[in-house]
Amino acid sequence: MRIADVLRSKGTAVATVEPGASVAHLVAVLAEHNVGALVVVGDDGIAGIVSERDVVRRLHETGADLLRSSVADIMTAEVFTCSPKDAVDDLTVVMTERRFRHVPVVDGGRLVGIVSIGDVVKSRISQLEAGQDQLAAYIAQG
Ligand code: AMP
Repeated sequence: MRIADVLRSKGTAVATVEPGASVAHLVAVLAEHNVGALVVVGDDGIAGIVSERDVVRRLHETGADLLRSSVADIMTAEVFTCSPKDAVDDLTVVMTERRFRHVPVVDGGRLVGIVSIGDVVKSRISQLEAGQDQLAAYIAQG
C-alpha cells in the first residue's frame, strides 16, 4: 500500500496557516478543522509545521502571552515530508521512531496532502483484515 492509496480514501485537503499569523489564530484554525497540526505555508511554499503539541509545550513555558506570538515562533521549520509513491509501512516506522503524528505529502514540489498516524494505522488495519479474509476464504475452500 502506497501513500497515494491513503490519499485516495481520505482526500487531499490540507489545513494550512501563514507563518505571520498569531498563535490565537492558529488555535482557532486547529479547532475549526478538528485537526492536530497545520502546515505552515509562506510565499515560498512550505515554511514549517505546527502541531497542538507545540502550542501546549510553549503555553507551559510562556503562559497566556503566547497567544500573541506568531506561528513562526513556535513551528518546526525542518519539515519531514513524504511522496505519494512512498510505502505506508515505511512511513509508519519513521513516524513511530521520530515521534511525529503528521507528515505532509509533496509531489513535484507541490503540497498534495497530509497523512496522520491515525490514517496510516487505519490503512494497516484494513490491509491486515483483507489478508485475514483471504486466508479464511482459502481455508473454507478446503
Ligand atoms: P505531532 O506528533 O505531529 O503533534 O508533532 C510533535 C512534534 O513534531 C511537534 O514539535 C511538531 O512541530 C513536530 N512535527 C510534526 N510533524 C512533523 C513533520 N512532518 N516534520 C517535522 N516535524 C514535525
